[in-house]
Amino acid sequence: MTTVQTTYPGSFLAGAEHRNATVQAARTAFTTWSELAVSRRGEILGRAAHHVEQHLDELIPLLTREQGKTLRDSRIEITKAIDTLMHYVGLSKALRGAHAPNLDPGVEGYVLRRPLGVVGAIVPWNFPTTLLCNKLAPALIAGNTVVAKPAATTPLTTLRFAELLAQGGLPEGVFGVVTGRGSEAGTALVTHPQVRKIAFTGSTPVGEQIMALAARGTKRVTLELGGSDPMIICDDADLSAAASAASMGRFYNCGQACLAIKRVYVFESVADEVIEAVVAKARRLKVGRGDAPGTQMGPMHTAGGRDEMAAQVSGSVDAGGELLTGGGPPSDPELADGFFHEPTVVLDPPHDSPMAVEEVFGPALPIWRVADLDEAIFRANSSPFALGSSVWTRDLARAREAAQRIEAGYTWINSRTKVYDELPFGGWKSSGYGKEHGIEAFDFYTETKSVVLGAG
Ligand code: NAD
Repeated sequence: MTTVQTTYPGSFLAGAEHRNATVQAARTAFTTWSELAVSRRGEILGRAAHHVEQHLDELIPLLTREQGKTLRDSRIEITKAIDTLMHYVGLSKALRGAHAPNLDPGVEGYVLRRPLGVVGAIVPWNFPTTLLCNKLAPALIAGNTVVAKPAATTPLTTLRFAELLAQGGLPEGVFGVVTGRGSEAGTALVTHPQVRKIAFTGSTPVGEQIMALAARGTKRVTLELGGSDPMIICDDADLSAAASAASMGRFYNCGQACLAIKRVYVFESVADEVIEAVVAKARRLKVGRGDAPGTQMGPMHTAGGRDEMAAQVSGSVDAGGELLTGGGPPSDPELADGFFHEPTVVLDPPHDSPMAVEEVFGPALPIWRVADLDEAIFRANSSPFALGSSVWTRDLARAREAAQRIEAGYTWINSRTKVYDELPFGGWKSSGYGKEHGIEAFDFYTETKSVVLGAG
């Protein structure tokens, strides 16, 4: 039996009745699901994930159609989402509490780990399936049930994903989906009395609103919010590899990624070489429809997002930055109707201009020349965001210093900015609260209880 309603007459906006029924179904399912042996939950989720995998060729074009990304990027995303499910299936046997012997003569203590209940998972449109599975996998393995709310502009892949999981054997009510606008369906999920935790990925202002709303009812939250990740390129780095990582890190998914590289600080003595390489790569990228053969960068997701980024670029150039390439829509008349934007590079905009202080959520990269590592770290840390960061150097002492001193939840050294399921991921400062990925994610989907076993 399927748990997911996939036909919404006339629209994809679920009403209050459907929302309440979905949360209620999740609450009912929680009793049985949480009492299953954890290895059994792993088996069930593993089989369901395998069923989703059999339908990759259907999900990939669906994601491209609703999100805009290239077919290649949709394949990478959905494959990664399934990998994450399987990672936590593998970790199911590692979910443990703790034991403290001899607290007093004949007295011992142990620490139980219990699931929270119904988890609301609210995700944005840029990576609808991976951002969902980052929450779904640890939440379900830990014994919770989940109700997801995808972005209003990307409900299709999530609905089909949920339907496939149900067909693959996930029991009724364990995972449900409610669709609709954030201000309505999202808020209703956050404030629903049966929802015990909100796992949210999205913008910082909305994350702050959710944190405030969740305070009523003392609900748990995990917040994966905005970023403005700095990349530092030292004079002893492999400059060609660093330039490739900058281009890939900024223009992947048309720049619409939380951990995209959004600020580059390069040592003055090697700046010209790096800038030339990054600009050449930006100019070579083939922009086009996500489903057209050979496209390397698709359109932006919405006209509003494109206009906001264009204003940040023009504001930074007007303030004194130098536009090195891009700066507007491509000239190809075939692309006149979509929300396309050329890969854009701006040199040395003022440090208080929009590209320096705001999150730029599109294909536009500011590059600054800096004197040394001290200045680069100072600039890197001068943002309210602190999600990811990267440093390129062959000097171990510099790498260690950067890893110690950069304020961020992740530092990649001489590496492209790939997120691993094995390592905890989550921002500091205005980039969020809590961790996803890693065995640490279980801490955010469970409560512990200390039990003392007396001698009497
Ligand atoms: P957004 O905050 O506008 O929306 C995200 C989700 O929240 C959507 O499902 C939306 O419908 C819902 N929502 C909106 N208002 C709500 C409200 N008042 N109550 C409850 N739910 C509400 O985010 P966006 O602009 O669509 O996404 C881009 C942002 O997400 C960027 O800032 C990006 O950096 C961030 N992001 C962060 C991560 C991370 O892991 N840190 C990953 C991807 C994206």
